[in-house]
Amino acid sequence: MTTLLETSSGAGFAEPAPSPLLLLGQGRDLASERGVECAGALPAASDPDLVERAVAARAALGDRAFVLGHHYQRDEVIRFADVTGDSFKLAREAAARPEAEFVLFCGVHFMAESADILTSDAAQQVVLPDLAAGCSMADMAAIDQVDEAWDVLDDLGLAGRTVPVTYMNSSAAIKAFTGRHGGTVCTSSNAEVALRWAFERADAAGAAEGAGDGAGKILFLPDQHLGRNTAVLQLGIPLDACVVYDPRKPDGGLTEAELAAARVILWRGHCSVHGRFSARNVEAVRAAVPDVTVMVHPECKHEVVTAADQVGSTEFIIRALDAAEPGSSWAIGTELNLVRRLAAQHPELQVHYLDSTVCFCSTMNRIDLPHLVWAMEELVEGRTVNRIVVDADDAHWARVALDQMLALPGL
Ligand code: SF4
Repeated sequence: MTTLLETSSGAGFAEPAPSPLLLLGQGRDLASERGVECAGALPAASDPDLVERAVAARAALGDRAFVLGHHYQRDEVIRFADVTGDSFKLAREAAARPEAEFVLFCGVHFMAESADILTSDAAQQVVLPDLAAGCSMADMAAIDQVDEAWDVLDDLGLAGRTVPVTYMNSSAAIKAFTGRHGGTVCTSSNAEVALRWAFERADAAGAAEGAGDGAGKILFLPDQHLGRNTAVLQLGIPLDACVVYDPRKPDGGLTEAELAAARVILWRGHCSVHGRFSARNVEAVRAAVPDVTVMVHPECKHEVVTAADQVGSTEFIIRALDAAEPGSSWAIGTELNLVRRLAAQHPELQVHYLDSTVCFCSTMNRIDLPHLVWAMEELVEGRTVNRIVVDADDAHWARVALDQMLALPGL
């Protein structure tokens, strides 16, 4: 195995060094990896018939099931996906298959919730093969914390000119909060359009309220990095007009003057995968690989995004490599399963991983082949396991926020 900056002979993927830490989902410590009990028999990862069982269960379900695979998912699972994509594309794909009785979502919890919101209530059941597949970023914004933050803004007379915008990577309850307060959902592809829309509304509300500067505000949830990168780099908002609201501190750790002066109030959340990349990683790869193009996801820190050559969503990264000049060198800052697959699909390119250590989405990796086989075999037997159902009121308001996103130009 080569390290990050040593390319293997000729064109090929430069694999990061293995981490000495526990790798979740790698079968090294099954006791610690099994966070959630599975009713019935979860096949052993070592079962030699696992692939055969998956093929048989998938065939038995036929058109009754539709299997979605997120880009960051393991290869062993992706091979059974009927469609692959980012969270929003997958939710829309699920909604476009009303004939499928079961939607098996090989992703994380908030994605399955979005699929449940967008699919038909009674006729379709959304299944998450392992309920422990959460998202650390989504978990950083709990609804009671967000309600409390809104109360803080309300007490200061700022809520009326604040429009909430939540990233797709948030719980259904947070999407519903956004819908209830006249905001929208955004993805990493349309965050700029969403923020421009939200500022128009917030500024109009500010002017109507007779606020001194008439300036409205955005409360951006839950990823501070996507919010900051979009506001500063795409909308030209000054960096010091973005403040970070820490839900663990009274009033978010901000003074009344700071909140009043802010244009963007960023929730203190981040992605544990993309947050690992550093500006030093960018420097190191530039020093080691001549003419390398560094491309990162906008969930990366601001200093990483500004040091990179290109920034974009997973779909953007996939398209960029599809269109790349043969022989060109790339260093990619996003989840490792995706980068590995892209490297394998593009042997004509030099594809490097930006981090010096292994960087999987450990929660996404909880969906492994044993869990997929278990969920499918249970469905074949007539038992629905791990069904994801969003409360009807939250589903309604989350749908309002999602529909607002769909009405934004360019989607
Ligand atoms: S990669 Fe980050 S944002 Fe995406 S599911 Fe994993 S923890 Fe959440």
